[in-house]
Amino acid sequence: MSVTIEKSRRTDHMAYMEGMEQIDPTVRNEVVAARESYDAASFGPGDVRRALSASSRGPREFAALLSPAAAPFLEEMARLAREEKRRWFGDNVYLFTPLYISNYCENYCVYCGFNCRNKIRRAKLNMEEIERELQAIARTGLEEILILTGESRKASGVEYIGDACALASKYFKTVGIEVYPMNSDEYAYLHKRGVDYVTVFQETYDSDRYEKLHLAGHKRVFPYRLEAQERALMGGMRGVAFAALLGLSDFRRDAYAAGIHAYLLQRKYPRAEISFSCPRLRPIVGGEGVQPADNVGERELLQILCAYRLFMPFAGITVSTRERAGFRDNVMDIVATKISAGVSTGIGGHTGEEKGDDQFEIADNRSVDEVTAAARERGLSAVTNDYIYL
Ligand code: SF4
Repeated sequence: MSVTIEKSRRTDHMAYMEGMEQIDPTVRNEVVAARESYDAASFGPGDVRRALSASSRGPREFAALLSPAAAPFLEEMARLAREEKRRWFGDNVYLFTPLYISNYCENYCVYCGFNCRNKIRRAKLNMEEIERELQAIARTGLEEILILTGESRKASGVEYIGDACALASKYFKTVGIEVYPMNSDEYAYLHKRGVDYVTVFQETYDSDRYEKLHLAGHKRVFPYRLEAQERALMGGMRGVAFAALLGLSDFRRDAYAAGIHAYLLQRKYPRAEISFSCPRLRPIVGGEGVQPADNVGERELLQILCAYRLFMPFAGITVSTRERAGFRDNVMDIVATKISAGVSTGIGGHTGEEKGDDQFEIADNRSVDEVTAAARERGLSAVTNDYIYL
């Protein structure tokens, strides 16, 4: 990896930038401390057995289920996870699709194709183009949409995102966003414009590694990003989603930290709907490539997904098209509650008028109908929504 911003010129990644809201750091401090003290190698088969037979599972059981000692118990974990999923969500699997409306980005994340140093085709959709994309997606029958942008306040300001979301709520019953972290009053504004939930990937909870991967831009500020979900809940959002990008650092520790982060916020904000995503590093456009720090295979990924389900059985789990179709079909039966379908990660990809490059290569190109058919084959009901606002 060639680093083109010398160390001496990089800003302090722990210092808030101007305009960034600071909130009570208790949850952040606890999450970082939990990650640091997590020693996956300290768990043995006895700990895993105890975690599996427990009637309710706290952080200690979760830690055991994420450890290498739990790998030989994967089948049992999957069986229990499937039971929990049925108990809380029945046979349902929710479908949604992401809509990328801008790929301008002011950050320099070395592992991402959208980064500001990467020479890709940049584009931003105007409201007419967004409406055409929304109409094209709505025709597939979907009722939930996730609006995404690269992280640029200049190119895609809060009002632009708000206008896009207000438009989206004309066509969709549930609207989520995956955009740059904001202050709580901005989240409150977007909530008024129809946004239900906010997803923020922390990427890695390892602050030292984070500093080396995020070389420029507001995203470099580790605490501001880690506190985004809490600010979103303070702004009145119904739900928040958590993720570590598996492979950037020690994946077990990062998966553990994301789980503890969600757990602590659930206790502090009991009304919050919690979800997890489990993205793995993907090849990027024009990238030199960041090699995964750790090898996260499908078995490890399944173990993490099952550990989340057994730790917080009522939480949503989303599996994206970064994963191949066969894997997604299996996990929607076992553990996932929500999967994307009919995905294009390019800008303007749904109307066939793509103006900007994709963020990453997807591994499952299936249409909404094809994913629905795959769900039915497994005895699942593909559900487009369970929220109806009056
Ligand atoms: S990961 Fe997000 S913030 Fe970082 S370069 Fe990519 S789009 Fe920008």
